[in-house]
Amino acid sequence: MEIGGLQKLTLIDYPGRLAATVFLIGCDFRCPFCYSPELVLPEKIKDQPRIPEKDFFDFLKERKGLLEGVVICGGEPTIHQDLPDFCEKIKKLGYLVKLDTNGSNPEMLKKLINKKLIDYVAIDIKAPKAKYSQAAGVKVDVKKIEESIDILKESKIDHEFRTTVVPTFHKKEDILKIARWLNPAKKYYLQNFRPEKTLDPKFEKIKPYPQEYLVEIQKAVSPFFEICQIR
Ligand code: SF4
Repeated sequence: MEIGGLQKLTLIDYPGRLAATVFLIGCDFRCPFCYSPELVLPEKIKDQPRIPEKDFFDFLKERKGLLEGVVICGGEPTIHQDLPDFCEKIKKLGYLVKLDTNGSNPEMLKKLINKKLIDYVAIDIKAPKAKYSQAAGVKVDVKKIEESIDILKESKIDHEFRTTVVPTFHKKEDILKIARWLNPAKKYYLQNFRPEKTLDPKFEKIKPYPQEYLVEIQKAVSPFFEICQIR
């Protein structure tokens, strides 16, 4: 597995659990507002230091009993054919596994769920259907995203949907369209855009929406979900 980063402790990435986050290299999307271009763009990936898989698993062995879970994110973890083996090794050490995904690979998602290799899934919903490819920076087969959404809803696995709300790209009406699309669904989180390093540097100059506007959006979409919060 190509590991491009490791956050040794997170209190927020795995709801209710003390966890570590592992960042896998490579992604099939090119979201202009992506915060991790070093894990996505081939010209940046080549300069990204790798963490040997052995070091990662040695770390997990050391932290057994202290950490409860591992968050696997990227990049896009599901592009890696060896993801099931990777999850299995983590689970064998006694950890819960959370997968963060863009939802583009429902086949892999189904496999991981059927083999009971993951315990929690977060899918980033980038935009309403009509704007999906624009948000992802590549042509997206939206049917694949819908398949992933349905797989999660039909499974018993704990899951959430979430959207990074990006000024100049998303307006309240876009988030309402996403909410209607996902409905019925349990958990939906809104994340305000942070103008840090982005895949398209133009986005670094964009100011995040004021908190009040996020609250206004949250109020509008809350009726569609059991839980809807701003992160
Ligand atoms: S934000 Fe987009 S480009 Fe960046 S890792 Fe996620 S899916 Fe890939």
